[in-house]
Amino acid sequence: MRFGTAIIHNGNEIDKITGALSIPIYNASTYDQDIDSTEVKYDYSRSGNPTRDALESTIATLERGTRGFAFSSGMAAIASVFSLFSAGDHILITRDVYGGTFRAATKLFNKYNIDFQLIDMTDLENVRRNIKENTKAIYIETPSNPLLKITDISGIVAIAKEKGLITIADNTFMTPYLQRPLDLGVDIVVHSATKFLNGHSDVIAGLAVVKDTNLADQLYFVQNTFGAILSPQDSWLLLRGIKTLKVRLDHQQNSAAALSQWLKEHPLVEEVFYPGNFGFGGNEIHFSQSRGPGAVLSFTTKSTETALNFMRRINFAAVGVSLGGVETIVSYPVRMSHASLPIEVRQDLGITDNLIRVSVGLEDVEDLIEDFRNALR
Ligand SMILES: *Cc1c(COP(=O)(O)O)cnc(C)c1O
Repeated sequence: MRFGTAIIHNGNEIDKITGALSIPIYNASTYDQDIDSTEVKYDYSRSGNPTRDALESTIATLERGTRGFAFSSGMAAIASVFSLFSAGDHILITRDVYGGTFRAATKLFNKYNIDFQLIDMTDLENVRRNIKENTKAIYIETPSNPLLKITDISGIVAIAKEKGLITIADNTFMTPYLQRPLDLGVDIVVHSATKFLNGHSDVIAGLAVVKDTNLADQLYFVQNTFGAILSPQDSWLLLRGIKTLKVRLDHQQNSAAALSQWLKEHPLVEEVFYPGNFGFGGNEIHFSQSRGPGAVLSFTTKSTETALNFMRRINFAAVGVSLGGVETIVSYPVRMSHASLPIEVRQDLGITDNLIRVSVGLEDVEDLIEDFRNALR
């Protein structure tokens, strides 16, 4: 079964009781139990809920894992995965990781003596060099944010397998349509389902998927114990959003490629960062592990003034954080997602005052280009 078929026919599309072509929203906290039964499927909705089950089973199928878990946000999914580790453990994490993940690692989990070390994951030798006696995991994001740096997933997995480490990949930018880290040997995939998976800028949600059943039991224990679960209502919205993932991404990705091409030729644009561009750093690695470049790109303008004026004048794009919605969203990382980073760290990461990130939506690309042309004038 191909991906477009699997998102529609994965066993979670029809309500088994009524035949409805939509899984009902089971707004129940508790369930009537048969006292003599030894097989109680549902007893309490933190532990299990039929609407959330349908979503968890859907994402497990799409990522080709054995079990999926739905959380109340991407950060709840990531923090729950971090909770698998213990005091004294050392974890290597990509240095341009999502800001919230950086904060959880360095300002929350460090309090419990889990040592997160930020490193450049694009250099495999560097990864190998930084593994210590107590290293337990490698956490990657590819492409990364906002400069779309590419990490070699199979290369990381090979090092991890040799040293007996767990690998975790944040697959938010790609979704299982474009990239399936579990197929490449990664142990845990996490998502901010708030972005492309839901796709409509109306839900905050997180997902995690694993293949190994022992790891699945451990993550279920955390989900049920920590309790950062996704509600039935939001599980339903996400199930609905996922049904159109492929058509949305196909359109958005085509538009992103056209917009990237147009930006590259614009006289006021300095550089365009997009994995689909020929000659872009990591472009070959990206295409060896993914089906497409995605729908997020960033670019620098030749002056800060041009960047700020662009942000003031842009019309069809929302100005804000987040990405992956039906609407184009432009963000200005130095004042938004990366505002809290010290200026030296920002500069070191290449996040400059003339950088703009674009998440391309479902508008007609001709209109987007026209709008970008006016905003850059
Ligand atoms: C948004 C995002 C997150 C955090 O997810 P929330 O749903 O906002 O909690 C994690 N990783 C990446 C790559 C993201 O873009």
